[in-house]
Amino acid sequence: MTLTNAHTHLELTNMRHLCPQEPVDFADWIRGLAGHQSLRTSKQIMAGIEQGIAELQASGVTYVGDINTSQLSFEPLARFGLKGIVYLEVFWRGRGRALRLLERVQEKIREIRRHPLHGDMQIGLTIHAPYSCHPELFRRGAAWCKQEAVPLCIHIAESQAEVDLLADGSGPFGEDRWYYRWPQKLGIFKRLPTGLRPVEYLASLGVLEARPLLVHAIRVNDEDIRMIADSGSAVVHCPRSNHLLSCGRMPLEQYLAAGVDVYLGTDSRVSSPDLDIRAEAEFAKQLHQGFVAPEAIDALLVKPFPCEN
Ligand SMILES: [Zn+2]
Repeated sequence: MTLTNAHTHLELTNMRHLCPQEPVDFADWIRGLAGHQSLRTSKQIMAGIEQGIAELQASGVTYVGDINTSQLSFEPLARFGLKGIVYLEVFWRGRGRALRLLERVQEKIREIRRHPLHGDMQIGLTIHAPYSCHPELFRRGAAWCKQEAVPLCIHIAESQAEVDLLADGSGPFGEDRWYYRWPQKLGIFKRLPTGLRPVEYLASLGVLEARPLLVHAIRVNDEDIRMIADSGSAVVHCPRSNHLLSCGRMPLEQYLAAGVDVYLGTDSRVSSPDLDIRAEAEFAKQLHQGFVAPEAIDALLVKPFPCEN
């Protein structure tokens, strides 16, 4: 049987000591993670990737969707015979630097597309999340992905802090003092009092036209789910990470009823107790009891990623 884990950050596997044991505040958690991540060497990052691959293989996974900031995970994943997509990550709040980083990542993606091992393991782009990225990064990155047929992945509608930022610039992500605490300063970022919900925000920037893989997608209403379904975008459900980061329950039953492509993912070892996708499915069965039949969740486990449709 081939199993799918459609959302990992394998390079963080050896940072498991940062994974909370009990639910914590999302904004506090990501601030702590950013501080540790910037201090790592390439050797430490590669060791994390290799540990992650070993955990995936031990759990029987063949298909993986991996987010990668270091740009180091494509080759080891392909060499180990895993299939799926590695998404190179870009994020920055200031416009100028964000767009320069995008150009660099685009160049790397073009290079990896010519790699002899590119095929069953593909390369894509991740634009991290609304609270860490300038809107022009979403607009240009998504347009490029659509034009070049490059897979796109985005963390969206995950926390209340993200919803508050996009609604009226409030909450921890709207406070200037929040980003001063990042070790690598995130540049000049004006508040985004857009009055939009996270999925609406992506739609307003043309992002859904690139049919992205949307990670988490918890804080949504009927209209958001309809837009996701109509655009042909897919979602990844990571219920144990959502639990530990106090993000709430994804309305899985509504996505399935709307015909949205749904995958299961563990997320990284920094917000998940392990990379065992079967354990993720068991947790999902408990969480959605009375809403989604267990067989429907088992079906997500064995769905190839990416699924052709
Ligand atoms: Zn993630």
